[in-house]
Amino acid sequence: MTELTLDPTDWDSLRALGHQMVDDMLAMQRDITAAPAWRPIPVDVVRRIDEPVPLQPQGEARAYEDFQSLVQPYPSGNLHPRFWGRVMGTGSPFGALAEFLSASLNVNLASIECSALYIEEQVLRWSRELMGFPASGSGVLVSGCSIANFIGIAVAREAVAGDIHRVGVAKAPPLRLYCSDQAHMSVRRAVALLGLGTDAIHYVPSDANYRISVVELEQAIHRDRAAGYLPFCIVGNAGTVGTGAIDDLNALADVAQREGAWYHVDGAFGAILALSPTLKPQLAGIERADSLAFDYHKWMHVPYGAAAVLVRERAQHLAPFLTGASSYLGTTTRGAEADQHAFHELGPELSRDFRALKVWMALKAHGVALYGKLAEQNVEQAAYLATRAKAHPRLELMAPAPMNIVCLRYVHAGMSGDALDRVNEEILVRLQEQGIAVPTRHRIRGQFAIRVAITNHRTRREDLDALVEGIVEIGRQVVLGGAVEAVPA
Ligand SMILES: *Cc1c(COP(=O)(O)O)cnc(C)c1O
Repeated sequence: MTELTLDPTDWDSLRALGHQMVDDMLAMQRDITAAPAWRPIPVDVVRRIDEPVPLQPQGEARAYEDFQSLVQPYPSGNLHPRFWGRVMGTGSPFGALAEFLSASLNVNLASIECSALYIEEQVLRWSRELMGFPASGSGVLVSGCSIANFIGIAVAREAVAGDIHRVGVAKAPPLRLYCSDQAHMSVRRAVALLGLGTDAIHYVPSDANYRISVVELEQAIHRDRAAGYLPFCIVGNAGTVGTGAIDDLNALADVAQREGAWYHVDGAFGAILALSPTLKPQLAGIERADSLAFDYHKWMHVPYGAAAVLVRERAQHLAPFLTGASSYLGTTTRGAEADQHAFHELGPELSRDFRALKVWMALKAHGVALYGKLAEQNVEQAAYLATRAKAHPRLELMAPAPMNIVCLRYVHAGMSGDALDRVNEEILVRLQEQGIAVPTRHRIRGQFAIRVAITNHRTRREDLDALVEGIVEIGRQVVLGGAVEAVPA
C-alpha cells in the first residue's frame, strides 16, 4: 500500500520551479515601472478562470503557468510608482521573501510554545516604544486596521460598560461613541458588529481643515449624557482617509479623561509619522490613547495583511475575549503547551498566521529611520503636487493637504456643478484605463475630487508631473469631445 502525501516525489524539480518563481517575482518588481499602472481584466481571462473543480492534478508547473497568464498580469497596481488609490502600501521585494519564510514555517500562533510568539511580542514591544505607549502595555497583531479598530472598540465597550461579553448588549446602558464625520467606515462597521447599532455613533462635525470640532464634541457628550446615554468611547483620527487630517489628539485625550470615556485612535497610516523625528510632533497626544490601531501594510509597505492594536492595560485588553476556558487549550509551565503569551485571548482569532515575521524582518533589514524618511518623502511629494495644482490654471486644489493626500480636480471656465463632476470622473477613469496612474475618488463638500494618496516608496516627482499632464490633457479631450454625456450618472 502506498501512503499519500503532499510532498513532491521529485524535490529537485520543485526546487527548480521555486527558484524560477523567485527569479520571476523579483524581476516583476524590478521592472514594475515599465508596466501600466493598472489594466482592465479581459473578459476572456475572467472566463478562463472559471474552470470546473480540478478533481485531477494538473501539476505544479501548469498551476504556475496559469498564475502567470491569468493572475500576475492583472494586479491592483499598488506596486506601481503611479498608484495612489485608496490608501495602499507598495510592499517590497524583501517583504515578499519574508512572507515565503513565514509560509514555510507555517506556524500557528494559537497556543503552542514557539519562537514566533517571542517575535510577535518583540514587534509589539518595538511598536509600543515607537508610539510612546508604556512598556507594560498590551497588543496583538491582526490582519488589518479594520480588525484593530474592532478590537479597540470592543475593549472600550467592556471597560466602560462592564461585563458585556457575559450579559450581552441588551443589558448594557445605552452607549454612545464619538468620532468626526471624517472617520473611516471600519469604525461604523465595528459598532454595528458589536451589536450597538450604528445609531450609537455620534458624528461630530469637522472644521475647515477636516479636524474634529472639539467644542462640538464636548457639547454633544453633555447633551447625550443629559438625555440618559453613556458616552463610552471617543475615536480620534491620526490621518483621515479623505484628506489626511489629524485631529487634535491631545485635546481629545483631555475630553476623554474629563468625561471618563475610552480614547481610541485610528492611526491606520498616519501613525507611521511617529517613525520620523520631524513629522512625529504632528501626532502629539497619540501616546495618551487607551488603544491605538495602525497598519504595517500601508505606509510601512509590509506585505498584506499586517496591522496592530496596542492597548494600554493588559487586563482591559483581555476582558472582552475571556469568554471561558476550553479544556483542550490548557496552559502548562513545561512542554509544547507552555504558551504564556495567549495571543488568542486578545482578539477574535484562534488560529493566527506568523505575520509578525515580515514586520520583524523588515524593521531589522531596513531600520526604522528609513521608514521615517520614506514617509517624509511622500509628504514632500504631496506638498509638491498641491503646489502644482494651486499654480496650474486648469487645476484646483480642493482641500488642505497637510500630509500625504491631495484632492484636486480639473476646471474649465464656465463649467461647474454636475458637469464638472462628470468631466472629472471621466478623467479619473481614463487615467486608470489608459494605465497612466491610479488615483481614486472622493467627495469634497459634495463635489467630485480626484484623490491622490501617496503611500508609495516608488513614487518619484516625475510621476506626479506625469499625473498633472495626464489630467490636463485628458481634461482637454473630454471637454472638447463632449464625451461627458457618455459617463454613466
Ligand atoms: C485603511 C484604513 C482603515 C482600515 O484598515 P484596513 O487595513 O484596510 O482594514 C481604517 N482607518 C483608516 C484611516 C484607514 O486608512
